[in-house]
Amino acid sequence: MLAVIGGSGFYELLTDAREECVGTPYGDPSDKIMIGKINGKDIAFLPRHGKGHKYPPHKIPYKANIWALKELGVKHIIAPAAVGSLKANIAPGEFLIPDQFVNFTRREDTCYEGNSPVTHISTADPYCEHLRKIIIDNKNQLGSVHEKGTVIVIQGPRFSTKAESSMFSQIGDIINMTQYPEVVLARELELCYASICVITDYDSGLKENPNINSVTLDEVVRVFKENNEKLKRFLVSIASKIPEERTCECASALKGARF
Ligand SMILES: [Zn+2]
Repeated sequence: MLAVIGGSGFYELLTDAREECVGTPYGDPSDKIMIGKINGKDIAFLPRHGKGHKYPPHKIPYKANIWALKELGVKHIIAPAAVGSLKANIAPGEFLIPDQFVNFTRREDTCYEGNSPVTHISTADPYCEHLRKIIIDNKNQLGSVHEKGTVIVIQGPRFSTKAESSMFSQIGDIINMTQYPEVVLARELELCYASICVITDYDSGLKENPNINSVTLDEVVRVFKENNEKLKRFLVSIASKIPEERTCECASALKGARF
């Protein structure tokens, strides 16, 4: 089954929707998980921040969220996320499908805390390449899409200083507060994970760069709403293109990872 984490209003598209309350060893997920059908296929939806945006990025129960999805039989996760741009050529209103991250958060980030068995998963390529390919093959429906890039993940809830932003722009393309540890927890539980990042604005260090067109808040809100509609249509259209059988590395991430 495919799950979508985030992407506001997506659940409105589900037919025959039911709500599932799933308890986990890590407490409750952000919210009830909605399961319904799109074109006859079961799809799960979990609002990352909970209904009414009750969890800020640093308080999201990431482990419970991923564990609960696994428990329900989810194999693939597509995770839309709002991000800032660290590069002048990545503009608000565009999309980016990340293939790498650099983590600057300090959060619990493993389901294998005990010392038996000691588990070291590979995250050399942390995003599912098969899922990324399906998204990229259909990218024309989204408009302007960057096919790869590195997302810098910061702890939040505050935004970066100009000095931090300048440093981040040397190593990454976009910046966000929620990609980590979501992406690595999915890999630990052998789930496929890909993100569709929606660029909402330029990060603080770029705002005074003469090479960018500054955008007003009204513009940001307008673009975000427009993109959200595009994203909803996109998710509906690719849901049926994701195969049940998996041949990617994610499906056997624990093989050779234990001592
Ligand atoms: Zn995969």
